[in-house]
Order: sequence, then C-alpha cells, then structure tokens
Amino acid sequence: MSKEACPLCQPSPHETLWQDDFCRVVLLNDVDYPAYCRVELLAHIKEMSDLQAPQRVRMMQVVFAVETALREILNPDKINLASLGNKTPHIHWHIIPRFENDKHFPNSHWSEALRETEFEPLNDVVKLTLADKIKAHIQ
Ligand SMILES: [Zn+2]
Repeated sequence: MSKEACPLCQPSPHETLWQDDFCRVVLLNDVDYPAYCRVELLAHIKEMSDLQAPQRVRMMQVVFAVETALREILNPDKINLASLGNKTPHIHWHIIPRFENDKHFPNSHWSEALRETEFEPLNDVVKLTLADKIKAHIQ
C-alpha cells in the first residue's frame, strides 16, 4: 500500500492525545466506548516481531501508559488490548476500557450487542487529564 493511499499515513481524523516521531495515541470518540484509544505506529511495519527490540519496548511502553491513564481516570472493570492491523500496514493497538454495563460485556466489543447503552462522550477536562497522564506515564 502506498503512503498516499494509506488512511493511517494521513493526518488523523481523530483527536490526537499524544504523539512523537514513532507513534501516536488517538481518541476514537466511539459512541459506545467513549474512552476507546488507539496507539498507531507511524511507519509501515505490520508485525511487532518486525520491530527492533527497543522499538517493541517503546511501543508497549506507550500502550501501557494509555492503559494506566485510563485505569486511573475511569476505573474500568477491565481493559481490553487488541492488535489486528489487517487493513493497513501499521502496527496499532486498540485499548478499550470495558465496563460490566457496556454494550457487549463480557464478550468482545466486536461481538453482537447484548444491550443498549448511552454513555456521554468524554468532556474536555477528562480529555486533557487523559492526555496529561499519558504523557506523564510515557516519560
Ligand atoms: Zn500508512
């Protein structure tokens, strides 16, 4: 896939909570999962095992920083981590805070809905706090 045709090589349509020259953390603003974040590698590399060892560590450091920040702010019942990346040649990690009353719990958030939910989107204060905590945990 050329970089011109690749959606992840374009400026993110999502809110970017943190970024360096290696990866970025975006808030997907998912209507059912308001705090659903994704850590996206900026380079065209598909598999974690294609990264050099220090890059693997760096990637997971960012993922765990997001997980820790989400736990501190939202106290979810579980954090789900997933890495698929079948559509774009970028490693990316989905970080999904899960709650016992969310739309699919205890099943995968990609499974059939078990109930309807109406969660409020994250407000600006929460988004700023999340961004600050992610940054603090990465360093
Ligand atoms: Zn790309």
